[in-house]
Amino acid sequence: MEHLLLHPPLADPTQPYLSLPTLKAALRAKGLDARVVDLNLEAAHWLFQPETLRGVARQIGSRFVDMNRSQALDFHGAREFRQLVQARPSIEHAIGADPSPVTVFRTRELFYDPARYAMARRHVEMAFEALSAAHYPYQFGFNVASHGVLPWSFDLLEEYATGAKSPFTAFYESWFRSAAEWDWDSGTMPNCDLDETAFVGISVVFPSQIPEALHLCRFLKARAPHVFVALGGPGIHQIAIHLEDELKLRLLSFVDGIGVFEGEETLIQLFPKLDAWRAAAGIAPTTSSTEVQDAHDDAVARARFEIVRDVPNLMVVDPTTGAPHVGPRWTLDLKDAEPPDYSDLDLDRYWAPSRTLLYAPTRGCYWGQCSFCYYGLTETATASYREVPPEKAASELGQLSRRYGVKNVYISCDVLSPKYAVKLAEALIDKGVKIRWSSDLKIEKYFTPERCKLLFESGLRSAAFGIESGSDRILSLMRKGCDRATMTAVNRAFHEAGVATEWMTFTDHPDESVEEALDTVRWIEEEQEFIDLFIVGQFGLEAGSHIAQDPLRYGVRKIYYAAGDELRLYALFTHKNGRRTADANGVVEREIDRVASRWELHPYPWAGANSTHHTFLHFLEFGPRAFRTHFQRAQAASRGALTTPPVAHIAGMREKPRFDIESIAEKEREFFAEYLHRAMYTTIPARRAGSGGPDEVAPLSSADYEAAVQAAGIVRPGWKP
Ligand code: SF4
Repeated sequence: MEHLLLHPPLADPTQPYLSLPTLKAALRAKGLDARVVDLNLEAAHWLFQPETLRGVARQIGSRFVDMNRSQALDFHGAREFRQLVQARPSIEHAIGADPSPVTVFRTRELFYDPARYAMARRHVEMAFEALSAAHYPYQFGFNVASHGVLPWSFDLLEEYATGAKSPFTAFYESWFRSAAEWDWDSGTMPNCDLDETAFVGISVVFPSQIPEALHLCRFLKARAPHVFVALGGPGIHQIAIHLEDELKLRLLSFVDGIGVFEGEETLIQLFPKLDAWRAAAGIAPTTSSTEVQDAHDDAVARARFEIVRDVPNLMVVDPTTGAPHVGPRWTLDLKDAEPPDYSDLDLDRYWAPSRTLLYAPTRGCYWGQCSFCYYGLTETATASYREVPPEKAASELGQLSRRYGVKNVYISCDVLSPKYAVKLAEALIDKGVKIRWSSDLKIEKYFTPERCKLLFESGLRSAAFGIESGSDRILSLMRKGCDRATMTAVNRAFHEAGVATEWMTFTDHPDESVEEALDTVRWIEEEQEFIDLFIVGQFGLEAGSHIAQDPLRYGVRKIYYAAGDELRLYALFTHKNGRRTADANGVVEREIDRVASRWELHPYPWAGANSTHHTFLHFLEFGPRAFRTHFQRAQAASRGALTTPPVAHIAGMREKPRFDIESIAEKEREFFAEYLHRAMYTTIPARRAGSGGPDEVAPLSSADYEAAVQAAGIVRPGWKP
């Protein structure tokens, strides 16, 4: 029987992710195995096939034609109609893209042509805009899968998991087609045989993978109930361990088990038990009598629980108590870790002109004190810091480079300790390992100019630094363990050694004033000759962070969630200083835009975003100043107005809309300005919002939103404000 490990949509298709090859390697070391499938990559290729894009256009066109005949549109209808109208030229551009964006990203000469690259990125963004309109109200991108307004409640996830609004239902139906349904004339073999599959593990790394991961769970359980379907990965772990039991049970209702914390030993101990787990389904005959059937189901559940209850880090339902149960806690000693096994993945299939792979020589963070940080497979803050001995790590990097013909490596971990980074660099040089690598580093005085040069010599070509703030007071409140002067000097040393420097900063840390936010932006401006890329993000309160554990220390008075945010992904809070005014936020935003205009910055996963594969390739090709010089030659392609797209000859693409789109857009702006402010920043007792429990919640929920929408009125053809 086969075991599958899936990386679900939607995530970055430009490089493989590390976790599943790591699990495969651990299994193989114990004489077990699993096949790694990058289903996200396969879904991305499927989505950008001409026939799939034309299918999206047909959906948009036909829905437009129907809605354009209406006598009136309610708020939802008007919003959907506006999105459809605006998506029509976008999907025609995406269909007419020649060469296709996938070809541009995978062809060296096209990839490094700034105009071609910029246009390919825009074509992908336009395709996602159209995909979102076709699946209104959901929004999609390589790092987005959301409702657009509401946070994910379990009701919403259940509805999404039916697949009716998923863009990938047809893809799963075709990818998981059985031998009996397979088109044998195609000359290809079925991708998998679910009848011969014992286990499917779905790894969730990013929040944008959650809806499709749950959709896949339902899809697979419906097709193959005998398969043990499990969720795992940091994206699910961080949700599952913080949920109250009632909601944990709702999450568990999608699967047979959830892997929390690190997964190696979970799979090693689970796989040999799967025959018995499956056989338990046959312990009593099934029957049409509901009572006897219930007794049978209960007996199966109890038998299965006894089989898996002691599997480390596995969360399952205990049928006796009806409560979630987690097996014994287990943490990997990295000295015993195997190097990742990428042998199932076609590294040339990713959306990039050359191969890369990821490697993790450390886990956890040696510092672990930053106020805002909640990262990885742990309950709070960061996991315990562990290292693969540097000599071993350098040897493994050499072996991986040779085995997979890869020169570029992303060292993917929470952070490397400075001493470890230097020892790794020395080991790479000693062993003659010729790779070019990038990683996240915490700035420390230990990184002297000489050590920065040594790191460059070992192949380090870009480093992302958690700079966070330009205010020493805020840095100290954050417990960053470093001040602005040190960061300035060390960053310059890296830049002068030839290492591209990427700054990660953010505003709105609790207690930060407007002036302190501006300090960060102006510091970036002052240091612009030594900063090669940056992001100014916005603070988000993480459930496992130090701030969430000790809010008063940071002036945080109350932490609460939206009633609909049952996954607890977006904590809201009140602060003793109140909320910043919209005017003050506007000042900060304008300063960020003014300073950012000197670089070519773009969102993940594109060139121009911190730590992406495409960004690294541009640094390698054009040097650390790539984002100050290279794309500036292609401003028209990057941000200029687009010409009329080629005609796709699809009904509904070119007909004139009868409803005034500008007026609808204005009505939406007014509605959301009022609604979101009220729904997110007022609180009511949870019971009143139907959430249960003693806490207060913001009223943003499906019922609350629908009530507000009902009051928003209707739009008629030719309607003017
Ligand atoms: S922000 Fe970085 S340095 Fe700080 S605790 Fe988190 S991983 Fe460690």
